[in-house]
Amino acid sequence: MRDKTTALIHHSYQPPEGFESPQAGVFKASTVIFPNVQAMRERNWKDKSGYTYGLHGTPTTFLLEERLCALEGGLQCVLTPSGLSAISHVGLALLQPGDEVLIPDNAYGPSRDLAAQTFKGLGITHQLYDPMDVADLRRRIGPKTRLVWLEAAGSVTMEFPDLIAQVRVCRERQVLCALDNTWGAGLAFQPFDLAPGLGVDISVHALTKYPSGGGDVLMGSIITRDEGLHLRIKLCHMHLGTGVGANDAELILRSLPSMALRYAAHDRTARLLAEHCLSRPEIAQVLHPALPDSPGHAHWQNLCGSEPGGAAGLFSIVFDARYSQAQVDDFCNALRLFKLGYSWGGPMSLVVPYELARMRTAWPTHLAKGTLVRFSVGLESAADLQKDLDQALATMHR
Ligand SMILES: *Cc1c(COP(=O)(O)O)cnc(C)c1O
Repeated sequence: MRDKTTALIHHSYQPPEGFESPQAGVFKASTVIFPNVQAMRERNWKDKSGYTYGLHGTPTTFLLEERLCALEGGLQCVLTPSGLSAISHVGLALLQPGDEVLIPDNAYGPSRDLAAQTFKGLGITHQLYDPMDVADLRRRIGPKTRLVWLEAAGSVTMEFPDLIAQVRVCRERQVLCALDNTWGAGLAFQPFDLAPGLGVDISVHALTKYPSGGGDVLMGSIITRDEGLHLRIKLCHMHLGTGVGANDAELILRSLPSMALRYAAHDRTARLLAEHCLSRPEIAQVLHPALPDSPGHAHWQNLCGSEPGGAAGLFSIVFDARYSQAQVDDFCNALRLFKLGYSWGGPMSLVVPYELARMRTAWPTHLAKGTLVRFSVGLESAADLQKDLDQALATMHR
């Protein structure tokens, strides 16, 4: 008889097959057991035909990858431990010393810093292009350009670019284009849809935002439709060893079914509040692509339509220039339901004041001069959020 110590590890009981429930199981593994040496030698870690090692996938991560492909209209997916790591993997997989990457001037800030600092150290250069001027993008694509990042709407300032024209320029110049699709989330528009003229090469998504929906998970995805491109990214992912935890993957799987409903609810409330802000005398400009005066509104309408669910729950305001930074800080501190915090997509509304002058190469002509504040609208009642904005604005007149 085996020692009990061994029997606890090599136990013969197997639970019956055929268990099925609404939520997927959580499979945790570093080690995966092979039936024999031949299977161990033959199994391919690069595809989903079997399992080789936890880093390369488990039933839990394979399920999440496939569901995200369905969401965004892609064919292959690589999961990474954060949205930012998804962005850095794309760069590391596709760029070599001597190459150049183009980034929109309103891109997610850490993505710009990654290019300006870490990639610069690797001999990879970058240029910032004007997201609202397709001719500027075309002009900047040169012989060294290997990758163009796209983002719609732009982080913080919410400009909606002519994405279709931008993708067309990349096609014409035969340069790969990668979209940061966190805002659209696979719901507002379809990044791989060739019918309106999109068809990006790569879609990156910070699952931290709407797919998580809880403000409690960090994860990113890289979705493609080209097998060769996917393998380059997958190989880089393997070399860097950046797997995701099964419990985190399960949290995203649990939240995905409610994502479209949550997204539409965030959208509806954000539009109500953005419109309300238009009527406030303290505010010089409201930035939300669904507002007719917001930069790129026509591009947004063309791609996303105008129904609820066509925009994320984000908007920014620019305070009239008569208000000092300190007064705007007081406004942010006076908010009770909107909490001070980064990220978005969770149930709780959030607010962040930004120093735009330090974030852009030049103050864009389409933006009013003043202090900018970005709201991420949660799932609270719209009436309560509006009251909270109004009471905080009232403190500015004391
Ligand atoms: C939040 C965000 C990211 C980064 O995601 P993390 O998971 O926080 O690293 C990337 N791009 C955009 C547009 C984002 O909003």
